[in-house]
Amino acid sequence: MPTLDMSGPYPFNSTGIDKNVPEGTIGNYALGQTNDENTFIVHYIGHSLDVRKRLHDHLNNPDEDWSKVHQFKFSKAANEVEAYKKECQNWHDFGESTYLHDNEYHPAKPGGRTSLKCPVCGQ
Ligand SMILES: [Zn+2]
Repeated sequence: MPTLDMSGPYPFNSTGIDKNVPEGTIGNYALGQTNDENTFIVHYIGHSLDVRKRLHDHLNNPDEDWSKVHQFKFSKAANEVEAYKKECQNWHDFGESTYLHDNEYHPAKPGGRTSLKCPVCGQ
């Protein structure tokens, strides 16, 4: 089984985010929920220069349906390049799972870093 290598899960609500994610955290996150076998089912993964703000943005976006998502996990990264590489790893690990239906496309390179290559597929 691939692993996200993130802490959590925490409740995916305003309190759960503010209590667990420090302001200005650069890093990665996953949205999902724990099933009956105590496995965290991943619905969405991403990276951000401000994970806390990004999670609030997801939560408050009326165009996104998170009715099946009740938890999140996250991890800190040293910088955006590291966060991008981890997002690629997570996406390849979980992207073929039927659960990751909210991330159809390969993670985008951080702005301006066109020479950066995905560590998994080299894209
Ligand atoms: Zn890739």
